[in-house]
Amino acid sequence: MGVPRQRRRSLARKYTAFTVAVLLWSAAIQIGLRLGSGGAPFDWWELAVIAVGAPFLAALISRFTHRILAQPLARLEAGIARIRKGELEHVQVSPTGDEIEFLGEGFNAMVDALSESRRTVAEQQEHLETRIRERTEALEEATGRALAASKAKSEFLANISHELRTPMNGVLGMLDIVLDADLAPAQREQVETAKNCAHTLLALLNDLLDLSKIEAGRMALESIPFSIQEVVKGCVLAVSPKAAEKGLEIRTTVEGDVPATLLGDPLRVRQILMNLVSNAVKFTEEGSVEVRVSRGKQTANQIVLQVAVADTGPGIPADKLTTIFDEFTQADGTVSRRFGGTGLGLAITRRLVELHEGSIRAESEMSKGSTFLVDLVLGYVAPPAAPEPADAPALLDEPKRETPLGEKILVVEDNAVNLKVVNAVLVKFGFQVTNAHNGVEAIAALEKQDFALILMDIQMPVMDGLATARRIRTEERWRVIPIVAMTAHAMRGDRERCLEAGMDDYLAKPVSPARLIEAVRANLRRAAEAGAGAPPMTATPPLAVAPMSVPAIDVPAAEPPVSATPNPPIDTERAAHLMDGDEQLRTGLTLLFLQLAPERLVRLHAATLRGDTLALRTQALKLQSAAERIAATAIAERAASIADIAATQPANYAAAELAFLEADIAALDDYMRPEREAFEEAASLVWR
Ligand code: ADP
Repeated sequence: MGVPRQRRRSLARKYTAFTVAVLLWSAAIQIGLRLGSGGAPFDWWELAVIAVGAPFLAALISRFTHRILAQPLARLEAGIARIRKGELEHVQVSPTGDEIEFLGEGFNAMVDALSESRRTVAEQQEHLETRIRERTEALEEATGRALAASKAKSEFLANISHELRTPMNGVLGMLDIVLDADLAPAQREQVETAKNCAHTLLALLNDLLDLSKIEAGRMALESIPFSIQEVVKGCVLAVSPKAAEKGLEIRTTVEGDVPATLLGDPLRVRQILMNLVSNAVKFTEEGSVEVRVSRGKQTANQIVLQVAVADTGPGIPADKLTTIFDEFTQADGTVSRRFGGTGLGLAITRRLVELHEGSIRAESEMSKGSTFLVDLVLGYVAPPAAPEPADAPALLDEPKRETPLGEKILVVEDNAVNLKVVNAVLVKFGFQVTNAHNGVEAIAALEKQDFALILMDIQMPVMDGLATARRIRTEERWRVIPIVAMTAHAMRGDRERCLEAGMDDYLAKPVSPARLIEAVRANLRRAAEAGAGAPPMTATPPLAVAPMSVPAIDVPAAEPPVSATPNPPIDTERAAHLMDGDEQLRTGLTLLFLQLAPERLVRLHAATLRGDTLALRTQALKLQSAAERIAATAIAERAASIADIAATQPANYAAAELAFLEADIAALDDYMRPEREAFEEAASLVWR
């Protein structure tokens, strides 16, 4: 800004020019006067003195003004330039006692004031940052606690509902016995009323049990072959007395290209359909109810089943079309008085549909009717492939003849893709499959039914494979069930750890269908012989046959042995489950986590450098629980491994894992970039 330095003329130079001009002017006047008055003749000597003396005098004056005026001003100018660059320094002030000295002192006082205010701002900023950090940490912890509390609530509800159901069944049984006896008509009516009430209560308890089981992540879906035609028929049959009573027509269409056999949990599919069909019949006073089943997208082993349930009932107001899927929500306040119900049916239906990775929505026109549209992702058994070539490996020729049909296998795996592939392979070879997503679900499944074999992933949330195997082996009744580990670990000692935990066999991922089936069969055979006391084998030897000629689907590894994991850093399914499907909360918490991560890493590094194993373990465990809260599985596992190291070894042994942890956090940061940018954009709009 201002005039460029090279174009400026110094004050001293200007003053010199002015003095020279004044001197020359007064000399000219004097000469002029002398000539005009006819006085003394023109003196060349005097002229020479004036010509030389005037510039000399001017130079002297210039030098003087330069010293007392231009120099201090130049110092001030340099001081201003330094301030502009952010350097708050005093300028040198000469004690001249004039305005220039006051100006210099004023300038220095201004510099002092600026330094002071800069220091205050820096202190306040630091204080603010510390407070933001503390608040962020507190917020993160509070959210974690709230989520844990919500989980505990769901667990509690799931348990208590179960405890309530048992005595309710007793009450109903006793009422039936009383009704069998000879009763006076009035008493019979009273007991009938009591029985109706007990039935309503039991239905409500069942709904609550289902809802809390889903919320607590304890609803495991089966994967067995079933016929959707049969399911539709069963539902229609169940509601037909009520429909007949109202004079409603029920039409069903299952399109021709829907496979006759699907893989899934027929009980849960029936529950979804039943809720929709019974609502349609309940709310429709005249006209018809129609159930249509058609085929959506299809892959090699999956199919999207599209179900539509349409009625000619009262319709649902547009503003209620989405809220009716919330718990305890009814479209119309008079509904429960007129038709009964609690508003839980559609909430459960939505949750069940989500468990099937599907979607549900309603369309409606008031007084014309409503249509509920559901998409479900189900397994699909492809029709038998063309006959095997003559040189196909002997092991897998006509596998179904070799495999005893219907043996039940529990697959414990948290990765949805792996689960589907393993299911498809097992079902293809004639086994019945039940799935669990973690150790806790696996134990719950074992409590419910017997299994011939367990396939167990090692790295899982909640309870990992090793802990689950140990837990299973503590129970006498489950001691004989063969457990085959499926693990992405390819590190030395992993096999031993699996066997030590009580597992019988070990499969390293990626597992080919041939290896999977071979291991399952070998262990089933061994278990059958174990009745005669045969010891468990240490591991399945590598398969010495050519790759199988049936579709060669390799089970993708959940995590490779190195840190460059191809899996997304967040287990989105688990995160959705943890945060009840709240995407905003998920993003917010993950961004909070990333904001705090650098400081946490600094603390971990500092503890490692100090050799402070206690601090290292504490910090690692803190980081682990923070990562678990956002389902950042890889980071949580890495932090857990650092905590393990800190518990048993010197702190510097954790250095390599710490480097991997940093890489994992960087991967998460990268993964969250779009969300972070969107968030920053939104924040800048707010602050602007
Ligand atoms: P409930 O039937 O126990 O009230 P639901 O969750 O099954 O609970 O249904 C929630 C609400 O959605 C019902 O109360 C009703 O208002 C509305 N609704 C559901 N299905 C229909 C339908 N077919 N026609 C009109 N309204 C419906």
